[in-house]
Amino acid sequence: MGVQEQYPFDVEAVRADFPVLDRLVGGDPETPGEGPGDDTPLVYLDNAATSHTPDPVVDTISDYYRGYNANVHRGIHQLSQEASVAYEQAHDTVADFVGAAGREEIVFTKNTTEAMNLVAYAWGLEELGPGDNVVLSEMEHHASLVTWQQIGKRTGADVRFIDVTDEGRLDMDDAAALIDDDTEMVSVVHVSNTLGTVNPIAELAELAHDHGAYIFADGAQSVPNRPVDVKELGVDFLAFSGHKMCGPTGIGALYGREELLDAMQPYLYGGDMIRRVSFEDSTWEDLPWKFEAGTPSIAQGIAFAAAIDYLDDIGMDRVEAHEDLLAEYAYDELEALGGVEIYGPPGDERGGLVAFNVEGVHAHDLSSILNDYGVAIRAGDHCTQPLHDEMGIAASARASFYIYNTVEEIDALVDAVREARDLFA
Ligand code: PLP
Repeated sequence: MGVQEQYPFDVEAVRADFPVLDRLVGGDPETPGEGPGDDTPLVYLDNAATSHTPDPVVDTISDYYRGYNANVHRGIHQLSQEASVAYEQAHDTVADFVGAAGREEIVFTKNTTEAMNLVAYAWGLEELGPGDNVVLSEMEHHASLVTWQQIGKRTGADVRFIDVTDEGRLDMDDAAALIDDDTEMVSVVHVSNTLGTVNPIAELAELAHDHGAYIFADGAQSVPNRPVDVKELGVDFLAFSGHKMCGPTGIGALYGREELLDAMQPYLYGGDMIRRVSFEDSTWEDLPWKFEAGTPSIAQGIAFAAAIDYLDDIGMDRVEAHEDLLAEYAYDELEALGGVEIYGPPGDERGGLVAFNVEGVHAHDLSSILNDYGVAIRAGDHCTQPLHDEMGIAASARASFYIYNTVEEIDALVDAVREARDLFA
């Protein structure tokens, strides 16, 4: 059976919802899609950075601006009420998607990074001090690593890093040794955006809770790509970004257990998050609004829910199956090329991305050559500089897949990598 016959859903039907995939590239970025040189079909394999947005989600944004654009929570008038209902219901949709109890447990943020900073500032600055420790892993994204590092410096708490094995997995013996009774927070990436490793979050959650610590999962690369249920994982906090899962930029979410969010002080102050203000003092709105100060990203929040509806229609089990299929195929084909070093676990044990280097070719040169073939990948450290240091490399190339990618596109990637390898040989 051909790999295409194993697709868990109709990929061509999905592609039809993403007009950008029909674009031609290759010309002058100042005259996109229309100047001379724009003759190469786009092969978009940079989905771990940002995914594309299907027509129903774009329509949701346009419907909002054309039909009921108004500020939320402040108006008695019809448009404001319509916008408020849609914006609030969007929290319910996100809550359902990750198995949260309700909208009280879902704070809309700008992205994963802001969700992490929210907890680090609102909880970390209050609760951490000398003698405490926070446990991360060596494969954390800078969004978590830099944030907790800085909170550690300000509070005197020790920040520890669980070792990554040569195979790109978390060293769980090291995790058990590092997490102790002074640990207050364990903050670990669910699916590594560089190694593709799927980390045992439920196991880490048990370890953390056994020592009275909380656990924060970075779901930026897991929530878009596989079913994620906060109760099954046993996490206290989870962060993810709309723009990596068919939604617009400028919107993400923090899941937090209600009692923890309730006990936390606000992170940002201002309008919309207060209940009563006097010259002497102020009190806070109910959850989640206590953490959403000022005018929120209304259209983006509503469109985030539309993106989730879109993914739900496909089914997250099938999204995961498609990613697994493509990741394994890409891994095997790149490995078969020769002269390619792939980072992280084997093809059948990873999320939907493959980071690699080609012998004798800098990742940036590779990415640039691939661009000439219309193949969009990422090159650099993928916001995991310390991990790249540990692996002894300055940069890597990363191809990452989503619901609309095909086996033919991976073939185009592999052909272009072969050309690049031979060019530099
Ligand atoms: N964590 C991981 C694992 C990521 O891959 C990313 C983005 O690439 C982030 C956090 C940060 O996401 P954002 O830039 O949307 O805040």
